[in-house]
Amino acid sequence: MVATKTALVTGGAGFLGSHLSKRLLDDGYKVVAIDSLYTGTRENIAEFASNANFEFIEADVCDFAYDGEVDEVYNLACPASPLHYQARPYYTTMTSIKGVLFSIDVARRTGAKILHCSTSEIYGDPLVHPQEEHYWGNVNTIGIRSCYDEGKRVAETLIADAIREHDVDARMVRIFNTYGPKMHPQDGRVISNFVMQALNDEDITVFGDGSQTRSFQYCDDLIEAFRRYMAVPKARIREFFAAAKLGAPVINTGNPGEYTILQLAEEVLRQLPESKSKIVMRPLPGDDPKKRKPDITLAKALLDWEPNIPLRDGLAKTIEYFRTKK
Ligand code: UDP
Repeated sequence: MVATKTALVTGGAGFLGSHLSKRLLDDGYKVVAIDSLYTGTRENIAEFASNANFEFIEADVCDFAYDGEVDEVYNLACPASPLHYQARPYYTTMTSIKGVLFSIDVARRTGAKILHCSTSEIYGDPLVHPQEEHYWGNVNTIGIRSCYDEGKRVAETLIADAIREHDVDARMVRIFNTYGPKMHPQDGRVISNFVMQALNDEDITVFGDGSQTRSFQYCDDLIEAFRRYMAVPKARIREFFAAAKLGAPVINTGNPGEYTILQLAEEVLRQLPESKSKIVMRPLPGDDPKKRKPDITLAKALLDWEPNIPLRDGLAKTIEYFRTKK
């Protein structure tokens, strides 16, 4: 198939970047994926690596200049699992900042549109529940999660100013906890940990008393939101966010179904009744948010989108994937 449009995906070999790259190829795009392979893998892109419309560049957005022509930039570059981002905190903050500057530079040179991936972490340990986009957050500047949270916050500021100062056609999504096939088995996040532990008959490690909540979005639902949002014309975006009284085009994308971490552990064991694993409690890491649930009113109104894969179904698909990784 001859591609009519080119998309640049930073973090293209990561969990979400590889799902997005696949979707863009299916939609008829030429895809240029850039990834440092710090947390991304060649395995994630193996199924389409030989597609003539796919190009992979192993490079770090922190020190890479791209000179090709593109129509759309999706900025996903940044380690996103607490385990990985806390292992290299300075690098994490730098990747957030330099990745967004890289994307803005490409967009200003080529006229490409940008979809920047932000995160529910910009709300910190929220004092407003559920979280909606007007909420400014409750974030520690010097804690162990700050490298990610603050890097992502300044990235939002850079996008907002690129729009105001340079008229860049950009939009942002605040991604709430997302899971699915292609998560790394040793990713360290809660779903991959619990499923791998249950499959291997190891203890299921609930941090704290397991009463903290998260809302879990299946990856395909998120990728659908990305594609719909990128397709919204600049004039419509301006009008919509002016009416919403938000300073920049940012929407939450997540599944509002809210579960305690203990409920999640129990659901994993319900789906794997043959597992000999027991639930054990481990110390709660610092600054771990107590509650998280997206208000997705804006995404529904702008994109006519809402997630349609419930946790039970998404978990079943994810378990099947992790069985092959045991
Ligand atoms: N968590 C847990 N056991 C694990 C990994 C994580 O209880 O083995 C908890 C973690 O403390 C947090 C929640 O699960 O409250 C989600 O953690 P994750 O790292 O997936 O993402 P976060 O939303 O914290 O960035």
